[in-house]
Amino acid sequence: MKKTVMLFVLSAAIVFAGCGNSGSASDESKATADSAADGSETQSDDASVGSEALADGVLNVGTNAEFPPFEFVGDDGEPDGFDIALIKAIGEELGVAVEVENMEFNSLVASIGSKIDVAIAGMTITEERQNSVDFSDSYYEAVQYVLVPADSDIAGIADLEGKTIGAQLGTTGDFLIEDIADATASQYNKGVDAVNDLVNGRLDAVIIDKNPAMVFAEKFEGEIKAIDGADFAFEPENYAIAVPKGDEALVSIINNALATIKEDGTFDQLVSEYIEN
Ligand code: GLN
Repeated sequence: MKKTVMLFVLSAAIVFAGCGNSGSASDESKATADSAADGSETQSDDASVGSEALADGVLNVGTNAEFPPFEFVGDDGEPDGFDIALIKAIGEELGVAVEVENMEFNSLVASIGSKIDVAIAGMTITEERQNSVDFSDSYYEAVQYVLVPADSDIAGIADLEGKTIGAQLGTTGDFLIEDIADATASQYNKGVDAVNDLVNGRLDAVIIDKNPAMVFAEKFEGEIKAIDGADFAFEPENYAIAVPKGDEALVSIINNALATIKEDGTFDQLVSEYIEN
């Protein structure tokens, strides 16, 4: 058993003890004795303690593989990227298999707890999403960037007023357009489709997270340029893993694994492999 898993078991056991109806030690030992007697599984050496999502030994993960370098479709046709590598490292730490499902970004939150256990998709923690899901600790700080044609004069928020602006549907970039006076939002299922329309002259700008913006600006070098969202007074955002609302055990299990992966250097290695290369 991995040390981290042992810690989860301990902390889950503490939480569990604190939540019991009676909470008395004698009831608990009775419960243990009963399950031992009838041979039912106590799961005492299993990371799934406390979270149903892990009980089948598989973490079903939803993503939207249209957001490089965090997620994209790899050469083998499977989702790849920083987030995918990170969630696989977390799965390894927990001793569960990780299955990744590629779906629309805008469907992720509603699918958590039913179709998928968790989502990792460069997803920003927002108050609105917190009404439906809980989030792990943040693993990355981001900000929205603005992509414009290479010869555009757009340089600040006032320049975006009245413009036609593209974004991926249901993203924080999409939500920002609502606050820009007289702007027309063009929503796309894939960020790259918005970028293509920018390149083709159908949009004045695209609002998209920093790292994908930089990937797309490089891909269409000479045709478009990326401007730091700080020039538009856009606030920093924090990416986290979204989990079923109320599954506190899963949040702490994931946070513990995240902490281990940060301490042992795996996280930094993934940053340099996927984000800084
Ligand atoms: N960070 C943005 C959001 O959470 C965009 C995420 C994405 O397009 N994958 O809305």
